[in-house]
Amino acid sequence: MSNTSSKKKTNTILYFAKAMKRFKKGFYWLYAISILAMIFLPFIKMFGPKMMIDEITGNADINLIIKIGSVMVISDFILNTVICFIGIQLEKVYYEGLNRHLEAGVGKKSMELRYETTENKKTLDRLADARTGIDAGYSGGVKGLFTALALLTGNLVVMLLSAITVLQYTWTPLVLVVVNVSINAFFESRLNRLKMEQIQRLAITDRAYYFLVHGLSDIRYGKDIRLFDAKEMMLDRVDQFNDEQSRINRIHAAKSQKYIIGSKINLALTAACTYMIFALMVIGHRISIGDFTMLSTAVTVIVTALNTIMKQLLALKKFCGYSEKYIEYVEGDTYVEKGDKDTNLSSDFVIEFRNVSFRYPGSKEYALKNINAVLQSGEHWSVVGLNGAGKSTFIKLLCRLYECTEGEILLNGVNILEYEYSQYMKILSVVFQDFCLLNFSIKENLICNSPERISDEELTPLLKRVGLKDKVDSLSQGLLTPVFRYYDQSGFEPSGGEQQKIAMARALYKDAPVLILDEPTAALDPIAEKDIYEQFHSMVQSKTAVFISHRLASCKICDKILVFNEGKIVERGTHRDLLDHKDSLYSKMYRTQQNMYR
Ligand code: ADP
Ligand code: MG
Repeated sequence: MSNTSSKKKTNTILYFAKAMKRFKKGFYWLYAISILAMIFLPFIKMFGPKMMIDEITGNADINLIIKIGSVMVISDFILNTVICFIGIQLEKVYYEGLNRHLEAGVGKKSMELRYETTENKKTLDRLADARTGIDAGYSGGVKGLFTALALLTGNLVVMLLSAITVLQYTWTPLVLVVVNVSINAFFESRLNRLKMEQIQRLAITDRAYYFLVHGLSDIRYGKDIRLFDAKEMMLDRVDQFNDEQSRINRIHAAKSQKYIIGSKINLALTAACTYMIFALMVIGHRISIGDFTMLSTAVTVIVTALNTIMKQLLALKKFCGYSEKYIEYVEGDTYVEKGDKDTNLSSDFVIEFRNVSFRYPGSKEYALKNINAVLQSGEHWSVVGLNGAGKSTFIKLLCRLYECTEGEILLNGVNILEYEYSQYMKILSVVFQDFCLLNFSIKENLICNSPERISDEELTPLLKRVGLKDKVDSLSQGLLTPVFRYYDQSGFEPSGGEQQKIAMARALYKDAPVLILDEPTAALDPIAEKDIYEQFHSMVQSKTAVFISHRLASCKICDKILVFNEGKIVERGTHRDLLDHKDSLYSKMYRTQQNMYR
């Protein structure tokens, strides 16, 4: 192990040790007690029988024998009970608790990442690595780490004390022990290599297998599986995977066999030799029968301790290998939004796109090319264009989810990136095409930030405006009913239309000066979409609004229409202006769509 990598491993271990200290007080007291108990236990087994046998073969004082026996049994009982009770406490309260806390840390970090990096394959891989980094199944998790550390410390002390005890009498068996452990180390390293091979081979099928097994029971696939009769196909595939995994496991078992048998023979030979040595010492009157028992136990204890230490070092190495990825992700660069200017927004403001061009990270094609547009406060715009024309990208740039590749977006003449982020966010309220509702109550979905400060009654006018009032009243828990049934049976499953209404109500509740609807109604038919857009148009009369759709009928309500095509604004004007030009893209699209929905 190189110096840098062992330093890194030490830092990794320290990171989690400190995390535990911060997580809950009192852990290290319990932990220390359990290690001490672990250290004492083998010595009772070593010295107890010796004292008893010495007494039986010596003075044979029955009272003393009973006393020794009682002390042995009682202390053994107490130590075992302490280890067991503390063990449960450590596992349930500390290890599992800290593991959950760390898992939540991955989620927290994900929410703080710069948005554009979240779509990046590398980020997704790092996220997956961070998760496996503290997963009990891969790294052993927090429990694996602290158990390994406890076993290491405990066994190190036990081994040293036992070795000192044996050295009082003789050194030969210790040589045997060293030979035994070296041979075992060789076997273990071979077994470990085989194990890694097995894991790598299994990993290939594992991912597909788990996807499949979850697919079988995932209710979201239920409809398609039933309608397309995919059940047999999926079960067959599960069998195939099972066969493949069994095959890999069988090969591994066959290859491991010789090393396992070898290590057992090795252990038996060492035991036989040490018994031999101690027996000869008894015959030669160099030690008592009591010493014989004690020394034989001591040697067994040393061998076991050394093997445990070796195993735990490997476990720690494995833990560090995985969990370093967790630290890299969670402690990695946090993107801090730039900008510190106050928005100082009055009722009149201007938003300007100036020569804006944009390429998605890693993409060669421009999604937007040289966009120029000026949005005055109070205006209602329509942004139209075919799918893929760049409409959503236009909005994402305005929302600072991405930065312009070229050009800039200005608010009152100042680049939007220069404004303090949270103040800037207050200006915009957007319902995205792929909006998401949370598995929280309806009220929490509407008022994401501290919903308790608002009474249900205050929300009634809003619910009426978006047409949700009757639905909410019909639910047993009203506004407090959870949306979706992922983890609450009392939840309700909103229809597509109801989800849109909740999303729109959320956008209206935010009460930002600029409201943007980016085709959140794409799942509705064109007539229903048109109705909703018209409703919204009148609802937000006094505000600035941008309505996006590829359906032109929804957009004729607005005075200003921008037509996007292949990343450019190709036409602009009122509905009438644009229709007057018979050759305009707008009038062509309008005529086609009119014919479709007639
Ligand atoms: P619209 O909203 O008008 O349908 P978009 O703005 O979503 O169009 O997309 C414009 C172009 O950018 C399309 O060619 C699309 O494939 C591409 N695009 C959209 N989102 C991404 C992304 N996250 N990464 C790479 N390319 C994207
Ligand atoms: Mg879009």
